[in-house]
Amino acid sequence: MGECGGDEADRERVDDVQGLDLADVDLNQDDLRDAEEDEQEREARKRTRQLGSDGQNEQHHSDQAQDEAERAVGVVGGRPEHAEAGEEELDDHADQVDHGKAVENHPSLRHVSTLRDPQDAATLSSSSMAVATRREYGLFIDGATAEPAGGEIRELVEPATGKPLAQAAMAGTDDVDRAVSAARAALEGEWGKTPPNERSRLLHALADAIVANRKELVELETRNVGKAVSSTKPEVFVAAESFRYMASAIGSIEGGTRPIGGSILSYTLKEPVGVAAQIVPWNYPIMLAGWKLAPALAAGCTVVLKPDPATPLTALRLAELAVEVGIPAGVVNIVPGDGPTTGAHLVSHTGVDKVSFTGSTATGSEIMRLCADAVKRVSLELGGKSPSLVFADADLEDAVASTAYGIYYSAGQSCEARSRLLVEQSVYDDVVQLVTDKAGAVKVGDPLDPETHMGSLISERHREKVHGLVETGRGEGAEVVTGGEPPAGDGAFYPPTVLAGVESGQTVAQEEIFGPVLAVIPFEDEKDAIRIANDVRYGLMATVWTGDPARGHRLARRIKSGTFTINLPYGAFPGIPFGGYKQSGFGREQALETLQMYLETKAVLLSTGARPTNPWSL
Ligand code: NAD
Repeated sequence: MGECGGDEADRERVDDVQGLDLADVDLNQDDLRDAEEDEQEREARKRTRQLGSDGQNEQHHSDQAQDEAERAVGVVGGRPEHAEAGEEELDDHADQVDHGKAVENHPSLRHVSTLRDPQDAATLSSSSMAVATRREYGLFIDGATAEPAGGEIRELVEPATGKPLAQAAMAGTDDVDRAVSAARAALEGEWGKTPPNERSRLLHALADAIVANRKELVELETRNVGKAVSSTKPEVFVAAESFRYMASAIGSIEGGTRPIGGSILSYTLKEPVGVAAQIVPWNYPIMLAGWKLAPALAAGCTVVLKPDPATPLTALRLAELAVEVGIPAGVVNIVPGDGPTTGAHLVSHTGVDKVSFTGSTATGSEIMRLCADAVKRVSLELGGKSPSLVFADADLEDAVASTAYGIYYSAGQSCEARSRLLVEQSVYDDVVQLVTDKAGAVKVGDPLDPETHMGSLISERHREKVHGLVETGRGEGAEVVTGGEPPAGDGAFYPPTVLAGVESGQTVAQEEIFGPVLAVIPFEDEKDAIRIANDVRYGLMATVWTGDPARGHRLARRIKSGTFTINLPYGAFPGIPFGGYKQSGFGREQALETLQMYLETKAVLLSTGARPTNPWSL
């Protein structure tokens, strides 16, 4: 891969990221690891794995058993001297941490006590290079970077500057075939025999590697997607936490016996579904890769993951880290490429057993069709047009501040963005004024500036789409109270926008705009609020703001959404099922339900009778 120093401005922006205080999360010193020791350990494990013969595999397993025994008594991964020195710093820092502030950008950090800052930039692994020094990315197949068979290399552009960022290889159908073969071979090889506790250990190791390489990953994601570092930083941690959650959850998977009577013993086995094709969009590349890969690997499946062609960088790096921590070659394969060609070929491939898709409802519907012929297992996480409902008895200040977060986080490019604000008529004008003020307070700018709330949109083309829908809203009678015009200058920026006087039937109240645009709709009473909330084809998430908890619970049962929150803007946490009602899809991410989607249930029955079974007395 080529090297390039990047220009001066680039370098400054990179330094900004390197200088970020990523330790402002909950610190758990017990989990501190020395990166170099970990790396040496991984290298040793990799070498052992590469040996290959039966006897050598036995050696690997006994090493592994010893590793685990040592780990249990705290030898491997124990705190080396210089980690203890670091620990003091962390202790000092921990005293100063304002946890509420540290996690305000992502809910998943709020309850996570294992996030840590095990090393600073100086001790990052040598393989982790800033994007400014690495400009070319291949495919990732069978444990290594691979050239695309068709030779297609695409220039990626940094959305916030419009400048070239990196060159990325694009997979064609031949590459997909290669990746699926590698995934199949891994499933039938070493990985297929790996016991759950070993998979769990590897997933924890991958989570550690993500945290250890977080600065590079945050920078890659920020520059590739254009969203603020205040968003991408927690998203990288959530990816790590997804692996941790599934590493633990795999221990809870069990079969069972069913006492059906007679002389029959029955029990169930849980087995991996097989090779999983996973397709993710551009808005949360690493977080969704974590959401997808973690349950699949925990279940013992192998994966071919297709990122969006515009945002493949962090998924590619994640696959490298997977191999570095000892996950065998072929278990994780990454094939960036176009949807209708590369993606469709992957979904239809006869070597694929299960498809997990996150993206638009239109594509989800097409994917369902592609899966139908072979009766493939499929789960779909699709679009949304989620409401925030504000009742007059709510704490309006809190409700509106959180509503602004709920739509403008990730510049509105979130499936669960609460893009409709339903407000009780008696406080409608006050809320419109308040939300307009809050929109004005959102800091839009350089995504690499830690103070920025909202970076750019993904591309100029997407900005045109967003603006086109705002214009449609204007044409249909909505009032643009603030925002609504793309700013001059470089980058695909769009301002936080509020549309007031919107009616539920209008385009801006029905279509997923996928930008920082909030449609404010009045309602008369609770019944009217429920009617409007359900008056869309989507059902991903809903949030109610009220001073009456009973009302919150009443609405939870009346509004059709996969996630429902009361006086809380956050809904996606590792461990909590996330997914849609209606055209927002089916299947759930992030939870035990997800793990089950990657497992088949096999019933085993055995005769315990004294005499042979001979139903027809033949
Ligand atoms: P998209 O459907 O256009 O693309 C998503 C992915 O599917 C990309 O990797 C794309 O290359 C691929 N793809 C496109 N056509 C395909 C085909 N025919 N066969 C196989 N793959 C194909 O969506 P997008 O615009 O990139 O992403 C935004 C959408 O994703 C929004 O609708 C958003 O709500 C949704 N989303 C949903 C969730 C969720 O969890 N529900 C999370 C994030 C994003």
